[in-house]
Amino acid sequence: MKASSAEYQRLRERMVETQIASRGIADERVLQAMREVPRHRFVPEHLLSSAYADCALPIGEGQTISQPYIVALMTEALELQSHERVLEIGTGSGYQAAILSKLARDVYTIERHAVLAERAQRLLAELGYHNVHVRVGNGTAGWPEHAPFEAIIVTAAAPEVPQPLLDQLADGGRLVAPVGPAGFQNLICVRKKGQSTTTRNMAPVAFVPLIGEHGWPEKEEGGWDWRFWRR
Ligand code: SAH
Repeated sequence: MKASSAEYQRLRERMVETQIASRGIADERVLQAMREVPRHRFVPEHLLSSAYADCALPIGEGQTISQPYIVALMTEALELQSHERVLEIGTGSGYQAAILSKLARDVYTIERHAVLAERAQRLLAELGYHNVHVRVGNGTAGWPEHAPFEAIIVTAAAPEVPQPLLDQLADGGRLVAPVGPAGFQNLICVRKKGQSTTTRNMAPVAFVPLIGEHGWPEKEEGGWDWRFWRR
């Protein structure tokens, strides 16, 4: 069911108030970006009426768009001021990239599913987020041509932070990622200072797996083998 853009605007205001600000997200730039980006454009047509609900939603290929609060929490932790180059691993719907594009100079985002990457790229262009650069590939290797990045966000879960991403993080940079085993990941924020890093645990989360070298191994065609994932 389609609503008018004024209704969607109201739904976003309410989402920010009841799901995000109320849970402690205080960065006004992040709150404003969440009020502005039309999340309903990034979800499948048949889920339009849930676009602003307090949960993750399926986007095809067995993948999901994250819960609004988690998008805000991860974004706030990146401490963006507008001059940064940001790397995102796991473009998915493109929603997180759209939020980042309002807060940083350039967003480089990598998605392993070509179907999702192409759809996200088209939508981001249509909506005018011209500082987002989408690439199909294995994001665990990062995007060395554009490194170093002041901020890196990984939106799929890895056994540990892929070393190439730490290598591509600028001095003083922040990296946010869900790390850990099946269903029990920790959202962590790593800050790099010279050659050393400090890590802070942020929240328990459940993300889809990061697949590939430096991530989890890929299973045969049908997609992820959940028995393995839960081992
Ligand atoms: N940030 C997205 C949600 C991403 S879901 C959004 O806002 O909608 C996680 C995504 O990571 C999935 O689309 C999945 O295909 C992708 N992914 C998993 N492993 C990957 C890898 N090694 N490289 C790039 N993308 C990967």
